[in-house]
Amino acid sequence: MKRLAIIGLDGATFELIHPWVEQGRLPNFARLLEHGASSGLRSVPNMNTAPAWTTFMTGKNPGKHGIFWFAEEGNAAGKVRFVTAADRDGASLWRLLSDGDRRVCVMNVPLTYPVEAVNGVMVAGFDAPSTSSRNFTFPENLLADVERRCGPYHLHVPVIAHAEAGRRSRVAEDILKAEETRVSAAIDLLQSEPWDVFMYMIKATDMAAHYLWDYDSPEQHDLLPVYEYADAALGRFAEAAGEDCGMLVMSDHGFGWRQPAAEYLNDILAQLGYMGKAQSHSEGATWRAFRIAKRLGPRAKGAVKRLLPGAYSRFGYRVRFGGIDWSQTRAYCDNTRSCVWINLRGRNPKGLVEPGEYQGLIDELREVLLALTDPSTGERVVEAAWLPEEIYSGPHTSSAPDIQIDWNYDRPVKGLKYEGRLGSAESKESAKGTMNALTGAHRPTGILLMSGPQFGPPGSLEDAKLQDIAPTVLHIAGLPVPDDMDGRVLAEGLAEPYGSTPVERGAAKKGEVMSGPAYSDEEAAEIEDRLKALGYL
Ligand SMILES: [Zn+2]
Repeated sequence: MKRLAIIGLDGATFELIHPWVEQGRLPNFARLLEHGASSGLRSVPNMNTAPAWTTFMTGKNPGKHGIFWFAEEGNAAGKVRFVTAADRDGASLWRLLSDGDRRVCVMNVPLTYPVEAVNGVMVAGFDAPSTSSRNFTFPENLLADVERRCGPYHLHVPVIAHAEAGRRSRVAEDILKAEETRVSAAIDLLQSEPWDVFMYMIKATDMAAHYLWDYDSPEQHDLLPVYEYADAALGRFAEAAGEDCGMLVMSDHGFGWRQPAAEYLNDILAQLGYMGKAQSHSEGATWRAFRIAKRLGPRAKGAVKRLLPGAYSRFGYRVRFGGIDWSQTRAYCDNTRSCVWINLRGRNPKGLVEPGEYQGLIDELREVLLALTDPSTGERVVEAAWLPEEIYSGPHTSSAPDIQIDWNYDRPVKGLKYEGRLGSAESKESAKGTMNALTGAHRPTGILLMSGPQFGPPGSLEDAKLQDIAPTVLHIAGLPVPDDMDGRVLAEGLAEPYGSTPVERGAAKKGEVMSGPAYSDEEAAEIEDRLKALGYL
């Protein structure tokens, strides 16, 4: 097969790329746009990184692959359980390519930990506990040689302290320094390993945008160095891969300012009598304790985690659900995610709502959500309130939150208000105003650029979605597309003979990852820090 390099740009958006391309700041993006096919790329409904990359690599919607978030509720255990690649239902693109005798080199893609025994090499992404964790790479000792040649490989760099202190240039600097340790390793492997399909994901574009998105600046100057770095990296990957190699550049979702509306939602639910607040526990106090823990130096914090790992990893649970009196709660949210859950008997450990009351309650909550306004403007703030079966399909659909909210993105709200048939409520106090170092958040439309011998004329894609990438890659690799994939081959973006070759369908396949121990409490605490600092928990 003709070789293909896939470069993921986490959270990259054309809203930034197009103006900077016009200003001549991103020459490699400019070349891809000029010579290749491109379009927006529709993300998964909740725009979350974990299901989005899993949809990318399985060609399936989350209702089929079963991953909706980085963490499961864990209401029964009273702590957060992190999701890994072992939770994925179905074969990854890497498995299917490997089984088809194509060689892969895959690095830094989220939700690939624990790694798979692929035909080729694999390095897991930032949701792995550490570079020394078992099953971080395949084969096991892959990184030792790379680090000998390229220097230390930094999986993740914490920058929230810089962001909170307003040291914006340090945020970008540290993120790019860590990214460069990975990019140089990726280029080393790209050149030293044989492969048919190569993939590396650049994390910097997402991470920097979470901290550096500026509500008041349409130009987003602070993100320009990050996109310039990504642009230069695209040039380096393209040059190292050679002219005969196709390039597919994509992001898992778009980006914009953060809509903080979910932080007011539990207060509204409580005022309307759907949720009971626990007397003994204040969410604000938990956040303050969490912030004090974060201020401890890394060594002291490490010691706390080692001594009290269970207590530490329960922090996240308490932050999200600690303020809830389950005996008085029929519906709740977690102050972060744009969802409402029903406290259903038979499903939730302290379930209150009888199955027969479920639909009536859903209808009521939808009515409340769709009527919510921002008290400072009087404008409606919810575009849609989706039930699982309206946005997902497949055996895992019932694991999705009971209601997924699609906010209005005209402006960040300053509170929430409901007045109507079901009562009245108003909240102006965010449950976690403490996390305001996070100014950016995900949007539904990412990017797709395809250029090289396998791809067709510029600007020729129609309604491309994240689940279309895996079938498209399999098709140009000359392999069958499994029956259970939801995505389609983006034939209109392909050169001949790929564009007119009929798509061969094959049987669905099971996935398999290297078996490894579940996260230890200490590792879970480390992951939790990382995800919380990005606003994912
Ligand atoms: Zn993100």
